[in-house]
Amino acid sequence: MRWSFTLGTFRGTAVRIHVTLLIFLAWIGMAAFQRGGAEAAGQSVLFISAVFLCVVLHEFGHILTARRFGIVSPEVTLLPIGGVADMESMPQKPWQELLVAIAGPAVNVLIAGALLAVSGAFNLHEAAQIANPSVGMLERLAATNIFLAIFNMIPAFPMDGGRVLRAALAMWLGQANATRVAAAVGQGFAFLLGLAGLFGNPMLLFIAFFVFMAAAGEAQMTTMAEAARGLPAVDAMETRIATIGRGATVSEAIDTLLATSQDDFPVVDAAGRPAGLLSRGEIVDALRESDPGAPVAPFARKELALIGARDNVDVALPTLNQGDPVGVVDSDGRLVGLLTRQSLAEIMMIREARPDWRFPKRAPAP
Ligand SMILES: [Zn+2]
Repeated sequence: MRWSFTLGTFRGTAVRIHVTLLIFLAWIGMAAFQRGGAEAAGQSVLFISAVFLCVVLHEFGHILTARRFGIVSPEVTLLPIGGVADMESMPQKPWQELLVAIAGPAVNVLIAGALLAVSGAFNLHEAAQIANPSVGMLERLAATNIFLAIFNMIPAFPMDGGRVLRAALAMWLGQANATRVAAAVGQGFAFLLGLAGLFGNPMLLFIAFFVFMAAAGEAQMTTMAEAARGLPAVDAMETRIATIGRGATVSEAIDTLLATSQDDFPVVDAAGRPAGLLSRGEIVDALRESDPGAPVAPFARKELALIGARDNVDVALPTLNQGDPVGVVDSDGRLVGLLTRQSLAEIMMIREARPDWRFPKRAPAP
């Protein structure tokens, strides 16, 4: 996720913090400083660190449960609304997704229970003042964990409650329809949150925006994955693509740029094998920084991600989601086509109009 920094790595999962969470934490620290000066701010920093730890433990509740189903999470990003574990895939069975989703809030409930057992008496009204340093640290931490558990169970993406709802719906609606319904419910909740934010805490308005965007993103990702499912690259790729020879000059590259409406141009060697990717911007950079007769290939800063013609389009989704195209190669490693977000969007439209169009069978690949 953009705008985030790595804090450290635990069991192969990088823990990253999003800049919006830093802003949120600074806001809590400043509130403490205004109330009670430097000492209160110091205590508040300690408290914040403890909350941090609870959020990380919450995430590892998800991550370690997912690992039981064979799913690895390379990174987890901490946001003001909790954390988002970037799992390589989601559990296929709804009951597995349900367990993974519910494991996070369950960790917070366990932490709250343990803290309450240690601190003894508990005054909910006092503990709820999490920014008030005169209330005991353990009680505030327990209250924060209860808050985290409840907040994350709001049935809206990307909160865990959204996934629990989707998993429950998927048991009889199917994954795609369940996501659509869950995303709509989530956006409804985001709207209510926003409304509450307008008349109350402005922080809610900010969270509502986050939730609304996440719900839309989740719905689109799932629709894309659904359209791509079981589809070989050869059926979805663009075949009329302009490439740039490895030995081509800047001036030749400009001609190719003008002749097409492509954003990115695969660089190929004499045998037609991919040797990099030139973006429109890089070609223009080449014209600015070097001679028109100079070779253009050194300006290619990116490798072209590759996929076999018979491989499933699903494999290319992460790269496509980052906005980069994926080259499709035949068994000899020669470039035969290009997968772009555009080609996937077309497949989505075609599958919507005629779900059985050319699928699952089709004429043999070239
Ligand atoms: Zn969670």
